[in-house]
Amino acid sequence: MQGVGFRPFVYRIATRFHLCGWVLNGEDGVEIHAQGDTADVDRFLEALRTEFPPAAVIATLDIRSVEPLDLPEFMIRESERRDRPTVRISPDLPVCGDCLRELVDPSDRRHGYPYINCTNCGPRYSVILSLPYDRPHTTMKSWPFDDYCGREYRDPANRRFHAQPVACPNCGPHYYLQTAESRVSGDEAAIRECLERLRAGQIVAVKGLGGYHLACDARNPAAVLAMRERKFRKEKPFALMVKDIASARALAHINVEEEKLLVSVARPIVLLAAKVELPEIAPGNRELGVMLPYTPLQHLLFAEGAPEALVMTSANRSSEPIAYQDQDAFERLGGIADAFLVGERPIARRIDDSIARAGSFGPLILRRSRGYAPGSVARLPVERPILAVGADLKNAITLVVKGQAFVSQHIGDLDHLEAFRAFEETIHDLAAMYDIQWDDLLIAHDAHPEYRSTVSALQLRSHKKLAVQHHRAHVASVLAERGEWEKRVLGVSFDGTGYGDDGAIWGGEFFAGSLQSGFTRVAHLKSAALPGGDAAAEFPVQAAAGFLAHIEGLPDVADPPFNFPTRYQNALQLVHRNLRTFATTSMGRLFDSAAALIGFTREMSFEGQAAMWLEHLARSASTYDAYPFPFLNGELDFRPLLTAVVEERGRGRRPERIARSFQFGVARGLVNAAKALLVAHDLDTVVLSGGVFQNELLLEDFRQQLAPAGLQIWMNRSVPPNDGGISLGQAALAAFNNASGPG
Ligand SMILES: [Zn+2]
Ligand SMILES: [Zn+2]
Repeated sequence: MQGVGFRPFVYRIATRFHLCGWVLNGEDGVEIHAQGDTADVDRFLEALRTEFPPAAVIATLDIRSVEPLDLPEFMIRESERRDRPTVRISPDLPVCGDCLRELVDPSDRRHGYPYINCTNCGPRYSVILSLPYDRPHTTMKSWPFDDYCGREYRDPANRRFHAQPVACPNCGPHYYLQTAESRVSGDEAAIRECLERLRAGQIVAVKGLGGYHLACDARNPAAVLAMRERKFRKEKPFALMVKDIASARALAHINVEEEKLLVSVARPIVLLAAKVELPEIAPGNRELGVMLPYTPLQHLLFAEGAPEALVMTSANRSSEPIAYQDQDAFERLGGIADAFLVGERPIARRIDDSIARAGSFGPLILRRSRGYAPGSVARLPVERPILAVGADLKNAITLVVKGQAFVSQHIGDLDHLEAFRAFEETIHDLAAMYDIQWDDLLIAHDAHPEYRSTVSALQLRSHKKLAVQHHRAHVASVLAERGEWEKRVLGVSFDGTGYGDDGAIWGGEFFAGSLQSGFTRVAHLKSAALPGGDAAAEFPVQAAAGFLAHIEGLPDVADPPFNFPTRYQNALQLVHRNLRTFATTSMGRLFDSAAALIGFTREMSFEGQAAMWLEHLARSASTYDAYPFPFLNGELDFRPLLTAVVEERGRGRRPERIARSFQFGVARGLVNAAKALLVAHDLDTVVLSGGVFQNELLLEDFRQQLAPAGLQIWMNRSVPPNDGGISLGQAALAAFNNASGPG
């Protein structure tokens, strides 16, 4: 079970039933010794199961009878740190209902105080400097309690008993508003000044839990466009924060599952179907990313009259990591923000907002960070500690301690120097917290010899290192989450790029096998050429050149209606001369090629943009069919599929129908391949993972076609299907020592 506010809770119910004993945060979680009348102990156990606090999660409950001891009362004992703590570090929590009531109660000591919290809520991972988790080891160490907070902290019956970040306006940190010219001090005055600026269309950098946000009025197009220009963010959608569910409903359609995600403890950004047109927020996109307030400060902003919807985007320029240290924020965001709403409490580490969606196969996490990290997502049957360093895009790392797999926050793309530094810091940070002995450590890394994460991992001290093939790691991540170690499955791994066994760029792969026995590649997308290699990922027409070069008798796509730019001809030259051209089975690049043929011929301004564009275009089509995507001799043949796209576009069919028929064709092809492979390998379960499966329309089509056959379809639940989930799969395969599989 998780130690959040748990010890005071146990204390309260133990004293209610007149039990003696103790509770402590032991090395494997919370340990309770409870003795008294049998009936009282039973009622205590019942209450333990049914009344636990909202922030606590009971993962497992082991009950054992022991000899009674001579004890006078029930006590909360200090944490015991023995050799290797697996006490879990709690993710950050949203402010709780009790604290919210006090926040708006004028008679409360913490009325309007932006740092209000208790054992059931507030910061955790974002303030913890080291373990054990107590105040001197947090970023609150510079604010000693006053008598009032001290009394609450020591009172076992109080909601703030042992709440490490507890504070009040008298003894705790405050917010202030900083501009180039002036500073407004005092929480209330600073918030008021911030709101005046937001209402006037200005951009304010607001310090949150795991970093700064850039905020502006989402309904003010000039403000939003200014944000785009200053942030160098041309088209990537901005996340919104709204006051409550009712305000969210004004912007987007929300079903039961989506509402559950919005109000869940992690308070992620949830992708929702837009009801209103906000073209500056999400250009060409039918979804809006919406989140609800989770810090007391954010609640105060809305309570005091913030615009109904705020853009709340990570404070950075373009795709740099989010700023979280004050001085760094002032320097990096000086040209973007008109003012800074600064909180004095330091942030221990950078933690972005998480992103999730209520998908066809249940909730799907697309970016796993604040509210989820660094929680444990799986148990693995392994004693030795394992560090898995992930891949270079959307990096996150996994540390396995005593069989518990802890997945870090989203770190980002390691070709950014700042992100790479954060990657190295996170490794050392988690290793130190869990007292990892480097000489014991098994390190798993991607098989790509030139990944920064690989090169870095190879320099670390360890017991042993293992290279894990990218797409096998995707499939393994799904099975690890479910604890399915022996289950043999058909694993489908579709993404943009990953280093294959043969050195080619893989990304349209089918495997048969299990975590325990490893995975054998049994089928794949027909191989195409990729001029420029991974660099082609930014230019759909460049990917198209590689795929179209394999098809005879096509019209010249430099002509209307295709109008491919000269980059296409140059790329074709590379293919014909076999210069800087690589073999690829990437489904991601196939989607890019189709997007180019349907009209996306420009450079992408963010990763995955062309495929996203195609999916959203497809959703607006009312009628469609399925373009042929035959599965023969272990290969999905893209040639008839792309030929159909070219011919139909030439005939003047509407682009959204072509996009829809392409999507449906891909789903059909995948279903046919899966059916054939399940029979051939005597399997009943399909596992889907990889970035391409962020395409919700593809999942809907796939489910609709395959589910009636009575087969199981498994997707990721706790880690992202994109490369943010890779490290968990690496760790799982390393635990079974099946890094590359039998072949
Ligand atoms: Zn609270
Ligand atoms: Zn105080």
